[in-house]
Amino acid sequence: MLSPTAYPCHTALRRALGLSVDHTLDVPVTTTLSRAGRAAPTLVTPDSSAAATEGRTPVSGPAAHTFTELLTATARLEAENGPVTTTVGDLAGARDLPVDEVRDTFLAWCASLVGCTVDQAAEIPARAVAGWITGASPEHPDAAPVWHLLATGLGELVSRIADSLGSNVRVGAPVRAIDVEDGRPCLLGAAGMSAYDAVVVATSAPRALDLVAGCSDLKPSAELLAAFDYVPTTVALHRDPAHMPADRAYWSTTCITTDDRWAESTVRLGPVLGTDVFKSWITHRAEPEDIIARADFRQLRPTVAGARAARSLASHQGRHGVYFAGSHLGGADSQESAVRSAIRVVRALVTRGDRLAVVAADPSRH
Ligand SMILES: Cc1cc2nc3c(=O)[nH]c(=O)nc-3n(C[C@H](O)[C@H](O)[C@H](O)COP(=O)(O)OP(=O)(O)OC[C@H]3O[C@@H](n4cnc5c(N)ncnc54)[C@H](O)[C@@H]3O)c2cc1C
Repeated sequence: MLSPTAYPCHTALRRALGLSVDHTLDVPVTTTLSRAGRAAPTLVTPDSSAAATEGRTPVSGPAAHTFTELLTATARLEAENGPVTTTVGDLAGARDLPVDEVRDTFLAWCASLVGCTVDQAAEIPARAVAGWITGASPEHPDAAPVWHLLATGLGELVSRIADSLGSNVRVGAPVRAIDVEDGRPCLLGAAGMSAYDAVVVATSAPRALDLVAGCSDLKPSAELLAAFDYVPTTVALHRDPAHMPADRAYWSTTCITTDDRWAESTVRLGPVLGTDVFKSWITHRAEPEDIIARADFRQLRPTVAGARAARSLASHQGRHGVYFAGSHLGGADSQESAVRSAIRVVRALVTRGDRLAVVAADPSRH
């Protein structure tokens, strides 16, 4: 999902490619947090829109206050450009909040975003989750923030970028290795080695590391890329509401269930698509029935070591003509971070250009 307000660069890129509001579906994002085995949820966020009020029961109380306090503290840390080393656990520990409420709400929410354990969630740099909060506030406290789904799917964005570049784009051409010869970057592909003026490695950190691992000139970058951690996740698209609360009054767009170790979410796409379809993280819980599709991923687990590596890698950008982009370099693991990291590289390569000006309108954000 894409936030029209928290994703300024992604939104500008889509607009520049002719993908306007006509191509997006509005998704009011509500959240239910539950403990496995308990019928009553810990928290159900409100949605005062007419369509949602009928039959839906928000659950507030002390746990909701704990959750809101930590969301607010995270947003404040980001707004004040606070240290990237301040973890989610640090923010919680600095406040006199009940440990169980912190685990069942904020840590569970962070763990579900990343696919890590609830304990590991405490180690996430708070600013890495701020990207999901900052700028995504609802119009008023009882409203649900509205996010967007690209009606055509995200592949449309990639196709439009490729089309706008004309015939110079080669797809389905995996690069096998990156080397440096005579000070210039070279790519090893199926057709052999080719030299270039510049190479931008826009993959996850492990794939980037695989590509540069054999090149001694790029060893400092390789060492930094090794600092990023990823966790395996499995996601299924299905029709069975198995992981939704038993009582529909507690159904939200995102329903997160936590046990002692894991917290995984189910996203309800029904109201947007007109039929009840769910997307569930099922890495550590039972598979639902009636699965339409499933896929395995490796999701970034933001860590302080990774945040430090991202900062250090900035000073290696462009050495021997090799640049790195990707969401792991942009804070939160999101589409916005990926685009923002790419804009930073383009700025280093191209100083002027109408297209760059459109997507990089606000330099303070890059
Ligand atoms: C299940 C799931 C749900 C998510 N939901 C959201 C969401 O709702 N909103 C959001 O903002 N973010 C979401 N994210 C995060 C978001 O998808 C990532 O942050 C984003 O895709 C990262 O973009 P990237 O360009 O850094 O890397 P990638 O998207 O991984 O792109 C890297 C590309 O490099 C290619 N590649 C790799 N190796 C080579 C090679 N050797 N040669 C050539 N090409 C290569 C890959 O095929 C891939 O296309 C989600 C992630 C997951 C796993």
